[in-house]
Amino acid sequence: LHMTDQVNDNTAPDTSAPAADGGVAREVKRRRTFAIISHPDAGKTTLTEKLLLFGGAIQMAGTVKARKSGRHATSDWLEIEKQRGISVASSVMQFAYDDCVINLLDTPGHQDFSEDTYRVLTAVDAAVMVVDAAKGVEAQTIKLLEVCRLRNTPIITFINKMDREVREPLEVLDEIESVLKIHCAPVTWPIGMGKRFQGVYHLLNDEVMRFTPGEEKADQEVEVLKGAQIDKLTEQCPSEMQTMRDETELVMGAGASFDLEEFLKGKQTPVFFGSGINNFGVREVLRALVDWAPSPLPRETDKRMVRPDEPAFTGFVFKIQANMDPNHRDRIAFMRVCSGRYSPGMKVKHRRTGKEMKLANAVTFMANERTRMDEAYAGDIIGVHNHGQLQIGDVLTEGEALTFKGIPYFAPELFSRARLRDPMKAKQLEKGLRQLGEEGAVQVFLPLVDNTPLIGAVGQLQFEVVEHRLKDEYGVDAVFERAGIHTARWVTCPDANHLNEFVKANQGRLAKDVDGNYAYLADTGVNLRLAQERWPKVQFHATREHG
Ligand code: GDP
Repeated sequence: LHMTDQVNDNTAPDTSAPAADGGVAREVKRRRTFAIISHPDAGKTTLTEKLLLFGGAIQMAGTVKARKSGRHATSDWLEIEKQRGISVASSVMQFAYDDCVINLLDTPGHQDFSEDTYRVLTAVDAAVMVVDAAKGVEAQTIKLLEVCRLRNTPIITFINKMDREVREPLEVLDEIESVLKIHCAPVTWPIGMGKRFQGVYHLLNDEVMRFTPGEEKADQEVEVLKGAQIDKLTEQCPSEMQTMRDETELVMGAGASFDLEEFLKGKQTPVFFGSGINNFGVREVLRALVDWAPSPLPRETDKRMVRPDEPAFTGFVFKIQANMDPNHRDRIAFMRVCSGRYSPGMKVKHRRTGKEMKLANAVTFMANERTRMDEAYAGDIIGVHNHGQLQIGDVLTEGEALTFKGIPYFAPELFSRARLRDPMKAKQLEKGLRQLGEEGAVQVFLPLVDNTPLIGAVGQLQFEVVEHRLKDEYGVDAVFERAGIHTARWVTCPDANHLNEFVKANQGRLAKDVDGNYAYLADTGVNLRLAQERWPKVQFHATREHG
């Protein structure tokens, strides 16, 4: 089997006969749902723009430019949101490419890095990791990849900015392998860099794609060299070509050839070199998504695996966005469809409350306007209006009682206490915090020994958003003060008596979350380790699942 024959059986659906399932299986096969993960400034926005150039954008939440504005200082963020009337952090883009329907979910980057980012990754089937070739693996990439690893999400790697003087490709690959603990399988390899960047050699196709700078180039204009043409290029730039030959020989000798199975298990990542801003190497990433990335996968529930091509609709909420539009003071629950077919007006069961809901008004967003969605299948994201009925992790089905697994809460890394400017507003504060906690905007903990709620977040911006919303929506003027807490761990123990002992001995360090689970609040990392050593039978968890 030649390596290029390793193509998923996902595309080229059989269209000859009408399907008995109303076409669900066919639609599922052509879906790809992914997110781009990267450290700020690596080139995520640029890559997004170029990807959309290739595909006819079908649905788009916010515009790429709008998302770009979200990269201002955090204090500008709320102002931007108000002016635009749509949150900058609300992007779901759908586009078509080569008979595939591709859903690209935006992960808010920057220092406004929050729990949303993590949860978005639970709703995708693959991720594209963008690495700045000059900077290598950076902090947020490490964090995001850890999250992908929880579900063994397949990762495609794009090493960007080869048009600049950057680090040696071998060095960058080494860093990815050692820091991120994932095997690299280069699919393309750069020929030179910076001013001497000639293009890339495609290891599987034995071709050279010639680089010529230019931002708005369409893909057809990329010059592809084969056989004798490659020899000619070798005469023109012998040194760059020789380096490329030596390096590729070295990595291939080390057994780094692409293996579809390993990729799908999240163990190996195909690597592409390019320059996003010049739209170079982007098409190859898109091909990898179409040819290799999985179509929507079966999802685990508390009862059984749900296959994406089952006829009955199921889906779960992974994100709640409030005030998408100041004229509609409601919330939008973003739901990933896991099976069946969404159609307007369909009736579903809300599993947590047992109530029936009519999905009359699922939407997606086109620029600033809400657009009605006419159908959706597994892998697609629908936005459901609601007034607080839907929470993160909630499941809607056409009847069956199911709970999807793996929609996580992450242990907060930042803690604050809300101090009221007007003590008469304690009730409103409590209500506001509870609702914002349910929405997943922040996490709220009640310490066992006093009644001041602790507010936990993963990113600083979460506090700003909550402070603003408490004032705006609940009329509560509160200031947030840092609590001297380093991190939290949920604690469990199979032996209830032992857990009681632990709770008694650690009253002052324990709190309960909204669902009544115990959390241990450590003031330093050292103290956390000491507690773990002292109580070896108690388990300390950095994540917990909804439901
Ligand atoms: P994001 O923060 O990850 O969304 O990154 P952006 O897409 O906004 O890119 C950050 C900066 O890098 C911008 O100034 C881009 O113009 C620049 N950039 C992106 N891709 C390339 C590239 O391939 N080459 C060069 N030289 N600059 C790039």
